[in-house]
Amino acid sequence: MARQSFLASPCIRRFFVAKKACLPFFFLFLLTACTESSDPETVVFPRDKELYAIFPNDPMLGDSIEAHLSTGVMMYVHPGGHYTLSFQVDSTHEAPQMQLFRFYRLQNGEKYGMSKLETLEPEVSKGRYVFSFDCEENEKANWGLTLVEDDDYYQGKTTDIKFEGSGSYSNHLSLNLISVGLVDPIEGVPNLDSLARLLVRAFRKGYKSFVIDTIYVRHAENHPTLGSKYPSNKHWHAGSSSEDMTLAELGGWPEKGVKEALDIVLVHRIEELDVLGYAGLFSANLTGTEESTVIVGSHVLTSSGERALSADEIVKVAIHETGHFFGLKHTTSTLADLESYNDLSILEDGFEDTPSCPDLLKSGLYKKGNASGSVDYYMPGRFKVLDKRAFGVVFNEADCPDAYLFMFPVSSEKTMKEFSKQQLKVLKQNLSLIPH
Ligand SMILES: [Zn+2]
Repeated sequence: MARQSFLASPCIRRFFVAKKACLPFFFLFLLTACTESSDPETVVFPRDKELYAIFPNDPMLGDSIEAHLSTGVMMYVHPGGHYTLSFQVDSTHEAPQMQLFRFYRLQNGEKYGMSKLETLEPEVSKGRYVFSFDCEENEKANWGLTLVEDDDYYQGKTTDIKFEGSGSYSNHLSLNLISVGLVDPIEGVPNLDSLARLLVRAFRKGYKSFVIDTIYVRHAENHPTLGSKYPSNKHWHAGSSSEDMTLAELGGWPEKGVKEALDIVLVHRIEELDVLGYAGLFSANLTGTEESTVIVGSHVLTSSGERALSADEIVKVAIHETGHFFGLKHTTSTLADLESYNDLSILEDGFEDTPSCPDLLKSGLYKKGNASGSVDYYMPGRFKVLDKRAFGVVFNEADCPDAYLFMFPVSSEKTMKEFSKQQLKVLKQNLSLIPH
């Protein structure tokens, strides 16, 4: 019964920011990993075992990055990408050098080591130190940096940091809708092909700075090597049918043209209460393996069973999550976001042309544990979309000037219609970094 009244109420979803930013918090450094023992230069490794991450073209890096830039932050870099990191000159100190590091995974799969790459000198431009470097990796990689003066961490101020990246990959993108297991009929469309058409139309309308070439539809049971793992007669519950909630092994579908498409994986539901979909913040991987998928459910697990999503809802979740995938934060941070950033200064996304909604933080929708007393929602590494219905909070989107934007963290029939110009520009710039 409760479920029916939920269906009649305005649809509000809660989108959780990925804790992708927190994955780097678990790097363990091997201080003996330096391979340059013949180099007389002192290698100044990142100081902490847990590092904050910076994402290219993110206008809201936050206070924590400022506080930790000298002693070490990490970043995701892509092959052929050109990067600049700049901040204001502190005239009370000599110019720092930057030491760059590369992280690599150790045999046991959990711990990371690192090796030093190079030392950079800054240029000074318009009162700012500007460090420029190119990424010569073969694939997406994790790098770290420290700032150095007198063989130790730089002590000067590092204010107004900008981290910009650009690459040479095209602004064309294709989509690949992958159905997994048995898909029940979806309200609003007669079949999956129609859902795909709806999806590609909405992507073309929303992602104006991309050229969305086409959408493929593939079924996991037909995967050339993994098909037998995904029977078409069973509902797939991501997180219980498979341990990997992201179904990353289905990303980078092994077929010419399809491989580089954005893989949007449609499962029956995600086996976590009230979660509609998820993607990592700046997953930025279009060719397979880890973090190469955006997950959406045709249903959502609720405290009273499960609820079916309409085609329009599924499309909105996919667009929003894809925004995270390409590096966009929420226009207004939720409490869960602040926890995942581990930085209380990131109250909004930093774009000048996206308003934010301070009242949202005060609303009941954003109180931690309001859902079901579980703090598992805030587990690291995932950007989730939660169903509002479990919160039982009536939220008035008219109170928020950013409600019309796709990256607004709450969705209803009236919210989430477009990206801002600056968001579109960053989307395009980030797409140019990602091999596809
Ligand atoms: Zn979100």
